[in-house]
Amino acid sequence: MRWDTRLIHEGQEPDPLTGSVNPPVYLTSTYAQSSPGTAKGFVYSRTGNPTRAALERVLGKLEGGAGALAFASGLSAASALFMAYPSGSRIVAGDDLYAGTRRLLDVARTHGVRVDLIDTSELANVRRAFSEPRKVDLLYLETPTNPLLKVTDLKSAVALARAHRTRVAVDNTFASPVLQRPLGLGADIVLHSTTKYLGGHSDLIGGALVFRTRAMLEKYRWYQNTQGGIPGPLDCFLVLRGIHTLGLRVRAHCANARRVAAFLDRHPKVARTLYPGLPEHPGHSVARRQMDDYGGMVSAEFRGGLPAARRIVRRLKIFTLAESLGGVESLVNHPALMTHRSVPIEVREAQGITGGLLRFSVGVEDADDLVEDLRQALA
Ligand SMILES: *Cc1c(COP(=O)(O)O)cnc(C)c1O
Repeated sequence: MRWDTRLIHEGQEPDPLTGSVNPPVYLTSTYAQSSPGTAKGFVYSRTGNPTRAALERVLGKLEGGAGALAFASGLSAASALFMAYPSGSRIVAGDDLYAGTRRLLDVARTHGVRVDLIDTSELANVRRAFSEPRKVDLLYLETPTNPLLKVTDLKSAVALARAHRTRVAVDNTFASPVLQRPLGLGADIVLHSTTKYLGGHSDLIGGALVFRTRAMLEKYRWYQNTQGGIPGPLDCFLVLRGIHTLGLRVRAHCANARRVAAFLDRHPKVARTLYPGLPEHPGHSVARRQMDDYGGMVSAEFRGGLPAARRIVRRLKIFTLAESLGGVESLVNHPALMTHRSVPIEVREAQGITGGLLRFSVGVEDADDLVEDLRQALA
């Protein structure tokens, strides 16, 4: 089956009891048992819920994994992932991470985990991290990154990790499984904030982990039940509904982002446009190899720094100034003052998260309207 068919049918049989084409939303915390310890497959909804199980089945198949676990948020998924690394472990992660993931790794540090943040888009840095005698227990990658849209060569990074018997986890939120399948490139675990493209309508918070092997899935099922950060059944239903149109939406996001990136790239008030689809983007050739398209996220640095960026977001009419991304509506974010405010300023500035940087989540509106909106805001 091809993508648009898989998104609607794979792992999604009509309900055997009623024929309902959508999974029933099981709003229950517990399940009757016929005798102590004998239940019909579910005992308590933190441990398992049929609507959540329906979502987990679909996510596992879309990423090509042995199975998936759904969480209350992307960060809840990340915290369950990092829980498995005790004091004394070493985690190597990208330095342009989602800011909340970076905060979570700061917490891991207070628990005695060594965390090294490096620019993984340069493979030499990854190689250097592995050349130290101290084993790397987890390589945690985000590609493309947020907000600088750096691209890491997953195949090569996985090969390095494999040679050192290191697990690899990839945050696939920006690409979605429609554009990139890290498990197919050898990664062990995929993380999603389903809040973003999978949900797609800015109406829920959710997360997921997808596993290459059944053994890892079962190990983390224990962590999911122990940590307890599970999503409610209605949110699971909404993610499943979003997934049905993921292919259509991602195509529109990519086409619109291409138009927006091309417009910004030519504009005299733009110092640099960051979009992996632009041929001059340093990660373009890797992105072309490992992704099916370049996604819906575009960042740009505007001449005139913070005052210029402030003026642009004030003047934009269609792009709403808001955190988050991946919904049908276009959003603009000022990373330095919003999503990445918690990153120390010297780290931010050194990386290029400057006062003049704006990140656009390009929605699925008419591309002409989006470009016109940007044109008038920049005039
Ligand atoms: C939003 C996001 C997260 C965190 O997910 P929440 O659902 O907000 O907890 C993690 N990684 C990336 C790339 C994100 O965009």
